Amino acid sequence: MKTTVLIHLLILGTGFQSCESSTTEPDYYPGEAQFLSGLPEAGTLNDQDKPALTFMREEEKLARDVYSYFYTLYGLDVFSSISSSEQRHTDAILVLLNRYNLPDPAAGAQPGVFQDPDLAALYEALTAAGSKSLPEALKAGLLIEETDIADLDNRFSTTTAADLLWVKDNLTRGSRNHIRGFYQALEVTGEKYTPSILSEEVFQSILSTPVERGGRRR
Ligand code: MN
Ligand code: MN
Repeated sequence: MKTTVLIHLLILGTGFQSCESSTTEPDYYPGEAQFLSGLPEAGTLNDQDKPALTFMREEEKLARDVYSYFYTLYGLDVFSSISSSEQRHTDAILVLLNRYNLPDPAAGAQPGVFQDPDLAALYEALTAAGSKSLPEALKAGLLIEETDIADLDNRFSTTTAADLLWVKDNLTRGSRNHIRGFYQALEVTGEKYTPSILSEEVFQSILSTPVERGGRRR
């Protein structure tokens, strides 16, 4: 039984992998160059935007590092595929930090290392939880994605700069797709997940709508 589930997951994972590298990948851009080509010009940052960029640079890195760690544990392609997406997300925030001459909190940082103590603690908690089993790792992924959507929404709530709003929208769309991906993989294991940060209504609306491509329509 366990083997059957694993085989199904591996097949599912392979599907993700091929999607990611094709021109109709479920994420929203094939690479950083494509992403940058759509980035609006610099605007004016308010006092909330600067710490928001600093924090989100590390939060996107946290997602990348946790999924990369789970990939080494379970070898499931959904983790490597979404980790690659998170690399682009954290790169996108770095572009904005550089654009506004803000220091990079993740400069030279190894996986699992963060300046923000809350993110450092979250990394430890999530990797420990996800080390127990594959379903627990997928649930940790879902929790990260819920957190990411809420933080992008809260921390950029007063932003008026078009480039920040554009990145926020794209990263949020990516997170919705990642929720769909992790949830689909979790369903194969027969386990359930209840959202703890987003409302049940919002969470279900994400699951009941198809993967969003976005990004390139601009
Ligand atoms: Mn992300
Ligand atoms: Mn994500």
